[in-house]
Amino acid sequence: MAKSEGRDELCTFCQKPRHRVRNMVAGPPGVNICSDCIEICNTIVSEDRRKSTGGKATTATAATSKTFEVPSPRKIVDHLDQYVIGQDEAKRSIAVSVYHHYQRIAQGPKKKGDVEIEKSNILLVGPTGSGKTLIARSLAKLLDVPFAIGDATTLTEAGYVGEDVENLLLKLLQAAEFDIERAQRGIIFVDEIDKIARTTGNVSITRDVSGEGVQQSLLKMLEGTVSNVPPQGGRKHPEQQYIPIDTSNILFICGGTFVGLEEIISRRVGKSRIGFDEVTVGTSQEVTSALFHKVETEDFVQFGMIPEFLGRLPVIAVLDPLGEADLKRVLTEPRNALVKQFQAIFELEGATLKLTDSALSEICRKAITRKTGVRGLRAIMETLLRDAIFTLPEVGRGAEYAVTEEHVKGEKVLKARKVSRRKGDDATGSDSVSDAATEARPA
Ligand code: ADP
Repeated sequence: MAKSEGRDELCTFCQKPRHRVRNMVAGPPGVNICSDCIEICNTIVSEDRRKSTGGKATTATAATSKTFEVPSPRKIVDHLDQYVIGQDEAKRSIAVSVYHHYQRIAQGPKKKGDVEIEKSNILLVGPTGSGKTLIARSLAKLLDVPFAIGDATTLTEAGYVGEDVENLLLKLLQAAEFDIERAQRGIIFVDEIDKIARTTGNVSITRDVSGEGVQQSLLKMLEGTVSNVPPQGGRKHPEQQYIPIDTSNILFICGGTFVGLEEIISRRVGKSRIGFDEVTVGTSQEVTSALFHKVETEDFVQFGMIPEFLGRLPVIAVLDPLGEADLKRVLTEPRNALVKQFQAIFELEGATLKLTDSALSEICRKAITRKTGVRGLRAIMETLLRDAIFTLPEVGRGAEYAVTEEHVKGEKVLKARKVSRRKGDDATGSDSVSDAATEARPA
């Protein structure tokens, strides 16, 4: 029975209060159902109906699949180029595999004797902040398919404390607004996949429920199976009504940093002496990166991934740590680039922010030294501009800030330079602002 929380009724099914849902339909006194639960019930009923009519898709969905147009690999790369800086090699192999995957779906069910194109799930290997999630998200955007992100570290084998792997499908279903047909063509990005590696040696007497066990649980789903998804999430229990989801056409993209894998590759490459010289020149980061490009399935097995699991991820794409030049492009080029965002904050107060080229380079060098990739850029920019932003409302209109390399290095304090009112409020400032910046004062 739904209880009343003041005037806010609760959904009898999921107990969500009225203010957290779109609509609440009232039944007999004290009984309510929210729009979310209605959608779930609808899905269960229509799926049941679909099964009893021999699994025929509804006319609406049949029409959608007919109009599903697959962009060519070149178009996919062009699209990714707008969002993802660098990673050209990875973009190309991902584009080809995504193209084949969706071509396979667009062609519909196989007739007898047709060659079955296998599903090509993708494994993205690259340091944190190299664009793994961004690539997966951008692909979903281009293809206009639902997209869900899951974290492998939260998953455990069924029956143990943690999330069941089916929760990944529930997230996708939610992203598809409970349209099963759409969800069945979606993309799931499973992050931190390296964290479910089998613990080394694995001669333990206890079961490896968070490592190998999860890999085992994911196997069927990656390959293609009908999974029963609990509509309310959480753990499965016997009396629950499930939503069956066919995962055959869901594209799984797994991402991981695989720290330490380079040593395994290095040992193998070193042993065979093939290509060893090619990867021993350059900085340690360049050496690591070159080694990663030589990765083979056996290295992942050594790392702790089980061969059957790797077998379901036939496409492996290696992402490189972004170098100084790439980071600089990330800072300034994308539509919502960090520099543009901070400039917009200054503009809101009628002030101007400029960064010299050497300042941008120094910010990138700092991020590289901290090994945080792109993620480090925001923190560096925030620390750099924190005091200026704090005093911005008092400093007022017409103030101009010019950030130089010395400011980034912490050798100089960033202060506002008053600009002549004659230049107008929209004075844009210049890179050659004199070093003799004056104390911040209201303009
Ligand atoms: P990860 O490889 O750890 O999954 P993300 O894709 O989550 O990294 O990247 C973190 C943030 O950094 C993203 O929001 C994105 O804006 C930015 N980013 C990372 N790599 C790139 C890249 N190659 N090009 C443009 N932006 C990037």
